[in-house]
Amino acid sequence: MNFLEERILKDGVVKSGDVLKVDSFLNHQLDIELLEQIGAEFHRRFADKPITKVLTIESSGIAIAYPVARAFGVPMVVAKKSQSVNLDGDLLVAEIESFTHKVTNRVIVSKKYLSAEDHVLVIDDFLANGCALQGLISLVEAADATVEGLGIAVEKGFQEGGQRLRNLGYHLESLAIIEDMDAESGKITFREQE
Ligand code: 5GP
Repeated sequence: MNFLEERILKDGVVKSGDVLKVDSFLNHQLDIELLEQIGAEFHRRFADKPITKVLTIESSGIAIAYPVARAFGVPMVVAKKSQSVNLDGDLLVAEIESFTHKVTNRVIVSKKYLSAEDHVLVIDDFLANGCALQGLISLVEAADATVEGLGIAVEKGFQEGGQRLRNLGYHLESLAIIEDMDAESGKITFREQE
């Protein structure tokens, strides 16, 4: 069992509706040492890729992507969920249906920050049905940049996103893959990974 799986067993809380709460260490209160370990682990797993940018989505992806970008020594780009007054010029836009909030968000990145020369590592905290990652991938593709890989802290393997993205040929690395979880007993089972 790896460091993140151990932490999920210790402090993760299974909620109804297939939601895992990680508020005490990943989302709300953040364990910085754990995040640095996550950054180092993604750096190790994608070390052979010529990464020039790390792309994530606000807000909970930011904390995971930051140590990854730092480990690679490249900028982190944050896809914004609303068109703020600070965003001007040409924009890359995608629609993403939120798993946790059941709403559709427009996500936006300025064309200034993703271009055809970029080799992008896409990072997020959770993978469920894959809408967030699909949206981020479409932003990279709209910029004619290259998706070098997808890095996820917690994949819920019983939902369809991971399988679909692997079938599409993307290099997807999830640090913990939950095979099964039960809100009543609180039991969590992980998929074996080498
Ligand atoms: P997807 O787009 O893959 O269906 O869902 C991924 C997004 O929904 C992630 O960006 C994450 O913020 C949120 N999410 C999905 N499932 C969970 C979960 O079980 N727990 C938490 N905390 N967030 C989740």
